[in-house]
Amino acid sequence: MAQYQDHMLILKSRPYRESDALITAFGLKSGKIGAIAKGTRRAKNRLAGLYPLSYTVCEIYHGRSNLDTITGTDLVEGFSGMRQDLSRLSWGMLLADLVDEMWEERDAAPAVFPWVVGGWEGLAQGANALTITLTACWHLLQLAGYYPQWETCEVCGRVPDDGPVALDPVHDRLYCTRHRPGDDHLVSVFLGTWRTWRRWMELDVNRLGQYEAKGAIGAQIFTVFRRYVQSHIGRLPRSLQFLQEVENIGVEGEDLTT
Ligand SMILES: [Zn+2]
Repeated sequence: MAQYQDHMLILKSRPYRESDALITAFGLKSGKIGAIAKGTRRAKNRLAGLYPLSYTVCEIYHGRSNLDTITGTDLVEGFSGMRQDLSRLSWGMLLADLVDEMWEERDAAPAVFPWVVGGWEGLAQGANALTITLTACWHLLQLAGYYPQWETCEVCGRVPDDGPVALDPVHDRLYCTRHRPGDDHLVSVFLGTWRTWRRWMELDVNRLGQYEAKGAIGAQIFTVFRRYVQSHIGRLPRSLQFLQEVENIGVEGEDLTT
């Protein structure tokens, strides 16, 4: 039983008992935790600044229960520019949902932190929301151990130099335009889409937001991401389904290049 302090990303908050909140947070040192924040739904509570999609330094009590108790909070960044826009807020939630979905409780993964903070910062500052979020999401997948080897054609071993390129989000394979098999689950994308994705994967977090994906390229990367998450994580985060409807992206159909 101990009191500790950690830098925390607040992923989720839901009402608990009369006036408390049940918080899901991701700590720099502690990884994902579930914690109770007492009295947050009363006015003038000292924990009132604790809200989802924010970055705070928390004082936490770890007792015998699985749930910790948050006893103090000091907001570092509230990302207000992200919160004022439903679309940006939804993209921000996707980052939170993905982290919540992929990491077990108390599995420390400090490398997650800068990608989420960088994503929320970019969203708050008005950067291209799809580019910022999906770049960070693909890096989060990689940190969780999911990284498709989409580099050379599965059949001829060549690096694709024309399109369309067929990506297999189930078996993590790539096929050049000549060797594409007829499998239903393949997603055909422009050469430029695949190249954009490759460039994203080479970025470090300080260059998050470079190589903007707009229009059809953005929609293709979104669809590949959605299929990849569905195939490897199993469930689709609700924010992902919501974004698909709200933003009207991620067209159905296997061939996105026609
Ligand atoms: Zn080939």
